[in-house]
Amino acid sequence: MSDLAEKIVRRIAATGPISVADYMATCLFDPEHGYYTTREPFGRAGDFVTAPEISQMFGELVGIWIAESWQRLGAPLPFRLTEIGPGRGTLMKDICRVLSGVSPRLFDSLDIVMVEASPRLADRQRETLGDPASRIRWQGELDDTPHAGVVVANELFDAIPVRQFVKTDAGWRERVVALDEAGALQFAIGPTGIDPGMLPADHASAAPGAIFEAAPAREAMMERIAASLKGVPGAALLIDYGHERSGFGDTLQAMRDHAFADPLVGAGIADLTSHVDFEPLARIAASHDHATRFLTQGDFLIGMGLLERAGQLGANADEARRKRLAGEVERLAAPNQMGNLFKVLMLHPRGTELPPEAHAD
Ligand code: SAH
Repeated sequence: MSDLAEKIVRRIAATGPISVADYMATCLFDPEHGYYTTREPFGRAGDFVTAPEISQMFGELVGIWIAESWQRLGAPLPFRLTEIGPGRGTLMKDICRVLSGVSPRLFDSLDIVMVEASPRLADRQRETLGDPASRIRWQGELDDTPHAGVVVANELFDAIPVRQFVKTDAGWRERVVALDEAGALQFAIGPTGIDPGMLPADHASAAPGAIFEAAPAREAMMERIAASLKGVPGAALLIDYGHERSGFGDTLQAMRDHAFADPLVGAGIADLTSHVDFEPLARIAASHDHATRFLTQGDFLIGMGLLERAGQLGANADEARRKRLAGEVERLAAPNQMGNLFKVLMLHPRGTELPPEAHAD
């Protein structure tokens, strides 16, 4: 058992079962043993590879999106670029390189903020960024005072804890982490009923055993993002794996060494996430008067010029590099790879169209 699993077992033995959200928060952010507080999970040597770590083209196209969006928003200055949950800092590094080339006027005056909950990862981000780090501010939490700018986040929401509810014969209950007879962690059903307001409208017709996931902490994050862009020329680009509409199902997943693992084994040494339900997030955005646009990562990247960029980079490259680029395009945008599972939720002012252009197909 991992050190953190032992700590969780002791805690449950002393004070009783904990919610799935509590378990997830502890696994990821326990100050002593949490996954993000103690490890550097990204990249080939880590447990999973994120889009910016797969290819520089991802960050470059996000950089182009920022430059074009700034123009469409009326080129306001001062302008703030905020990234939340920057991991190793690779995305911001690629964005900075592109912006300094395509839009020096924007880049030179840009106010860059990185919001990172793990101090250890913030240090790692400074290292990755090198030069531009000297002009970047780091914060532990997003400042939600409205400010003209863009907010970007890749694979942030999936790492924010989710609660699970389960339909039982006695109605809907919270799913909890408890101890079995041998003292090992197991999922169990909590004792008290659930406020039906937390459940979807069709919850009564769900089959016994159905699971519904709700994530108040993700919604709180979305509230802050939406508030930080309220009434100003601003936009957000939020990328994650998940679904456009709420539904039933258990999507809690642990990843270790590039393979799925049992979420109850390896607390603190495996990544623990769940698919993002974008429906409540889009609703929150709309309630703050933002227009929203939803597209797959594949459509977003192809629309922003992924194929053209790969062609450019490959033009004077050798065969091996061209093959690598083709593999990266495939990985990021093919429907059976990240292209369909990963989604982009955009927030923008009503009446302002942001790139990529919508295609009628
Ligand atoms: N965006 C990066 C990393 C994704 S992993 C990439 O694409 O490679 C999730 C990141 O979100 C980690 O950096 C984690 O520490 C951070 N994070 C999780 N919850 C957070 C929160 N509430 N506030 C800020 N950062 C958070």
